[in-house]
Amino acid sequence: MLEKDIEKVIVSNEDINKIAKRLGTQLAEEYRDQFPLVVGLLKGCVPFMGTLIQNMDIPMEIDFMDVSSYHGGIESSGDIKINKDLDAQVKGRDIIIAEDIVDTGRTIKVVMDLLKYRGAKSVSVVTLLDKPAGRIVEIDPEYIGVTIPKEFVVGYGLDYDEQYRNLPYVGVLKPKVYNKE
Ligand code: 5GP
Repeated sequence: MLEKDIEKVIVSNEDINKIAKRLGTQLAEEYRDQFPLVVGLLKGCVPFMGTLIQNMDIPMEIDFMDVSSYHGGIESSGDIKINKDLDAQVKGRDIIIAEDIVDTGRTIKVVMDLLKYRGAKSVSVVTLLDKPAGRIVEIDPEYIGVTIPKEFVVGYGLDYDEQYRNLPYVGVLKPKVYNKE
């Protein structure tokens, strides 16, 4: 039913599963003795983080944040509105932020700064998609699923007007969907 709105598939479900396996295995090796805290940024992280952590066969904790960043600046933690904060203690922890996509880098940057400010021992980023052409803030995710061109995509957590997050793949919408209003 949702498929009729998709112009083309960019990353198939099979590819996403391969990516989650590759990155999950790598993270599990690197964080084996660290009891990492995997932090997902709601809501887009949900499908990818779910698949990723099933491929990480090590002791870990998971937690979620829901943040809105104000695009005025990133110098202080005051630029971030926390709609839902972490329950877990951050101080001294090795943290892996799980994201659906890094575009401008602003969201990740404010969250990384906040977690470091709160005393995290280390903070790294794993993202299903990287859109480096959109970058405004200097951020290099350590673990990248696939690099995509500067194109608006939906699916596997990514929404258009809060819809399409449940698509099992990442794709581009048909223009008629945007031009409906
Ligand atoms: P950033 O702060 O890096 O610019 O943006 C990250 C957030 O912007 C993502 O978590 C996502 O919510 C949104 N975003 C960036 N690019 C896209 C895209 O191509 N499609 C969708 N649906 N959301 C995007």
